[in-house]
Amino acid sequence: MATFIILLGPPGVGKGTQAKILAEQTGLVHISSGDLFRENMKNQTELGKHAQSYITKGDLVPDNVTIAMIRERLTRPDCEAGAILDGFPRTTAQADALEKMLADFGGKVDKVPYVTAPEKVLEKVLVERLSGRWTCRTNGHIFHDKNNPPKQAAVCDFDGSELYQRDDDKSETIVRRIQVYLEQTAPLITYYRQRGNLIEINGAQNIREVTKTLLSALKK
Ligand code: ADP
Repeated sequence: MATFIILLGPPGVGKGTQAKILAEQTGLVHISSGDLFRENMKNQTELGKHAQSYITKGDLVPDNVTIAMIRERLTRPDCEAGAILDGFPRTTAQADALEKMLADFGGKVDKVPYVTAPEKVLEKVLVERLSGRWTCRTNGHIFHDKNNPPKQAAVCDFDGSELYQRDDDKSETIVRRIQVYLEQTAPLITYYRQRGNLIEINGAQNIREVTKTLLSALKK
């Protein structure tokens, strides 16, 4: 049966970075809702234009739009064995919709690593990580000024394309995104804990240590 791993955690805790590494190590495809939206915004598709206003404010794109986009993505052949989902689901309605979709496809939610940091340092860690983040224009590779700098300033190590600072990584929007996370996404922690899928991962370690913790938790 196709198994789907969902990475849960606040914005900036390192889900995207870890999802890319996990995809390489497990052979599962990495599906990032944020990357899909950014791809659509770059290409100025109808979906992209619609999503843009929500994203730059730090709000969530409406559930119906997001769910339809993910459903379409999950029907492609590269998801037959499953996927690593990063950024979806972000609301209880999305989680319910995912459960139904996967049942239709003959798949199920496997483990849900919840990457987090101790509450005392959480906001500081997130603001520091998001405001120092640089994203690759072409493939969404992620770097950080201090924690994971590119070899050459503003150039992606992997494909040589330009690195830019996302509009929603600017400080006013960051505060809103954290608030939206606490209100709309944090309830998923209980949702998946009750279903027995949740595994807690300490995200306040360096990138390698988080990967190590994740890989050993996924093996269990
Ligand atoms: P982060 O790096 O903070 O985890 P993402 O790159 O995953 O952020 O997403 C960026 C923005 O795209 C979100 O702030 C939100 O506006 C929109 N978005 C991404 N995933 C979803 C989703 N599942 N539902 C609604 N909106 C989403």
